Amino acid sequence: MKGLPAETDFVVIGAGVAGLRAAIELADAGRVLVLSKKDAHSAQGGTDDAVLSDEDEVILHLQDTLIAGDGLCLPQAAKTLVEEGPERIEELIAWGTQLDRPKTKLVFETEASYSHSHVLRAPGESTGGEILRALHAKVQTRKNISVVEFEFSRELLTEDERVTGVSLISDRGLPEEVACSAVLLATGGIGQIYRNTTNPDTATGDGVAMAFRAGAEVSDMEFVQFHPTALYMKKSPRFLLSEALRREGAHLRNIEMNRFMGKYHPLGELAPADVVARAIMHEMEVSGAKDTFVYLDMTHMNPARVQKRFPLIYGTCMKHNIDITEDMVPIRPAAHFGIGGVRTDLQGKTSLAGLYAAGEVAATGAHGANRLPSNALLEGLVFGARAGKTMREELTQAPKRVSRDKKAASQNGPVDAGIEELIGQIQDVMWKDAGIVRTRIGMQEAVKVLEGLAPRVAHPRTRRAHEAANLLLAALLVARSALAREESRGAHYRIDNPAHDDKKFLKHSVVKGGNLKFA
Ligand SMILES: Cc1cc2nc3c(=O)[nH]c(=O)nc-3n(C[C@H](O)[C@H](O)[C@H](O)COP(=O)(O)OP(=O)(O)OC[C@H]3O[C@@H](n4cnc5c(N)ncnc54)[C@H](O)[C@@H]3O)c2cc1C
Repeated sequence: MKGLPAETDFVVIGAGVAGLRAAIELADAGRVLVLSKKDAHSAQGGTDDAVLSDEDEVILHLQDTLIAGDGLCLPQAAKTLVEEGPERIEELIAWGTQLDRPKTKLVFETEASYSHSHVLRAPGESTGGEILRALHAKVQTRKNISVVEFEFSRELLTEDERVTGVSLISDRGLPEEVACSAVLLATGGIGQIYRNTTNPDTATGDGVAMAFRAGAEVSDMEFVQFHPTALYMKKSPRFLLSEALRREGAHLRNIEMNRFMGKYHPLGELAPADVVARAIMHEMEVSGAKDTFVYLDMTHMNPARVQKRFPLIYGTCMKHNIDITEDMVPIRPAAHFGIGGVRTDLQGKTSLAGLYAAGEVAATGAHGANRLPSNALLEGLVFGARAGKTMREELTQAPKRVSRDKKAASQNGPVDAGIEELIGQIQDVMWKDAGIVRTRIGMQEAVKVLEGLAPRVAHPRTRRAHEAANLLLAALLVARSALAREESRGAHYRIDNPAHDDKKFLKHSVVKGGNLKFA
């Protein structure tokens, strides 16, 4: 593993699909420093599917994407995503990605939200992991790219309204600064603002928070997609139980063991994901139990087929002593994908000179108000490549040297119970009041609680305290944007405004970065 340089041409913050794809694009133009706050191979990648449109299916894929976006997709962004997707996937295959293809043909499968079959899988269940493996292998062949792990980016450095570098807390807990010509944010999502999330512990909204504090525009933060079915074991991370299980015939049962989806939608368990998530929340609420959940039931399905088709899910549940072919699986919905983020154009440029964004941290408008399942990996590839290309073409300024302020205090730990308790409060209030089903009163309460917590993270010193400050800022952006959107659309559902209001709200929310006033 290489150390941190004082300066480089490009800094890419994030070693997921978006960051790695961008780095490959940048490698011929200069020195590329890819930073990851954890082990670079731990980026989330996703566990399930990626989308590839066969040439004659691009129109259908676009149609499905626009329908899922519920009126709010930026058509050009969605078009770019689906049109450039096939090229990006073909390229990945040429770089060694293994996808399901008996003989020479790729295997396409149908998803509930798709009018056609254009979902691709890697053998097993980890398409994202397989894509990441191939991207890492490709990165290793480019000597201009250094991937440096366990370096925590805490702020963007700016001069004359241009981003000129990054300040970090190094793996040894020391403050560091790296000067560069341009920065790409590829830091992933914000899922950790919620008590229940499928996201990894790295998804603390660092990119959105850093960009916002530096003055960049942030957009569509109210739209957070929730996955209806995540394994619920009290002290364990919420493991995603794919929608494919319901497509294969899994049933949902409440704690009295009754199937309930028929009451909520004619398609029952195959209803759209947001309908299923809200139905589950309602069943949990009416159960009156405290730590409540519902069950996913696969006990009536062919056990051999279940094991063969879902080896990862089967194995993970077995680690919790749940045999999904014999036992009911306790589940809850969980925050899954942040649709909004740092606002970019189709070239990956943010509103701040020298700053670019791609992947889940970015808001291109391609997903509109809700993401079509499996479009996220594609987004990282397509817009990661685009952002890299733009950064390459716009490389004009040599990096300015920065003086390294080694005296300033910073550290990596130790674990601070107060900070963990504060993060817990953010997660609880967001889950309760700005989650799957929202009301004005609830969101006002969330904003009030979050603003009250703000002084406690006003001067963060450790990594975890910085993450807490970032979580708080991301949560506030979600809660305030959700409060302002007085309608329901896509992933944003308000019980007090259950319908669309096209007259007032057929537009993207945009918040200009800077100091968020906490009063
Ligand atoms: C369980 C699960 C299943 C999914 N399944 C699918 C699927 O089937 N199909 C699909 O299309 N999408 C899926 N998704 C979504 C998709 O995986 C993600 O949207 C996508 O991988 C995000 O890629 P990214 O490159 O933007 O960020 P990530 O892969 O999250 O990478 C973020 C990187 O940024 C780094 N980072 C963050 N903050 C800092 C910081 N302050 N300093 C330094 N480094 C930092 C992290 O360490 C990490 O390397 C799934 C997501 C989850 C959680």
